[in-house]
Amino acid sequence: MLIADLNGSRIDADMARRSGAYRCPVCKDEVILRRGRKVVAHFAHRPRASCIARTGETRAHLEAKRVLLDALRARGLQVEAEYATTEVAEDRRADIMVWSPSSKTPVAIELQHSRINVPDLEKRAQSFVRSGIAQLWVPFLDPGILDAADQIAPDILKVDRYPIQLHVLWMYGMVGEDGLWMYQPRARAFWRATLTDHMLMSKEALWYEMGAVKRYRQGGTRRSRRFRTLYLQGPWPADALRLNLFHRSADSSEWFNWPEGRLATFVPVAETECEENRDYYQSTKSRDAPSESRR
Ligand SMILES: [Zn+2]
Repeated sequence: MLIADLNGSRIDADMARRSGAYRCPVCKDEVILRRGRKVVAHFAHRPRASCIARTGETRAHLEAKRVLLDALRARGLQVEAEYATTEVAEDRRADIMVWSPSSKTPVAIELQHSRINVPDLEKRAQSFVRSGIAQLWVPFLDPGILDAADQIAPDILKVDRYPIQLHVLWMYGMVGEDGLWMYQPRARAFWRATLTDHMLMSKEALWYEMGAVKRYRQGGTRRSRRFRTLYLQGPWPADALRLNLFHRSADSSEWFNWPEGRLATFVPVAETECEENRDYYQSTKSRDAPSESRR
């Protein structure tokens, strides 16, 4: 974790001194400050601690939080890492919570490194909605996935066979046509992702069943159940991105439920054409009215 409790106040590992009675804000156990050349400064539980705050805490996840926290803070925004909201169920604090300077709307940015099952995701999304918190889900690109990518334009990569992960599909459905933002740990950068069906070709075939019944199958294409084709545009470092708020309506599919509520997305600075509120601009763009331009 990046944030510990010191005498009742939150302290950032970057600001912490070696010695100090740091405590985990969740379980209140003592935690140890770790600093090294290869890992961002953080607080660690003792080896056998069974705290919920330890789950999913990888080096890449710590780094991702650090990168966003620093970029948003550098812009003068009110931002916190590992921010607990009393109303969000269980512990699971928001990885990053940032407040819109104009509307004061809190925005939770969730950097999803590990797989998470869809019912848990939906529960968490619902609790953000109930708490009036806008949400932005950012799954990680698996290591090696870009090794198999084709560069089809100067800033666009295509991964022809991207293995389907349900939580990624849910997040993609959540954000809709604006595209899903994904984080690449190696580059510490963000990509805008679009998923399309991966089509499989089947050849025309003629065979005899049981040695007698003539069977024929037309050639053609069908949709893969295991793969999608992933297009990635980018990469952008965190400081080249701005946040944009919008509203989506409830929707469901065979497998998924998406709540109605406010979402946030990143917008590359170059694409923001807003003059008056350059640092953080918003719109009331509705998912039902995609033609309405960003303001
Ligand atoms: Zn703990």
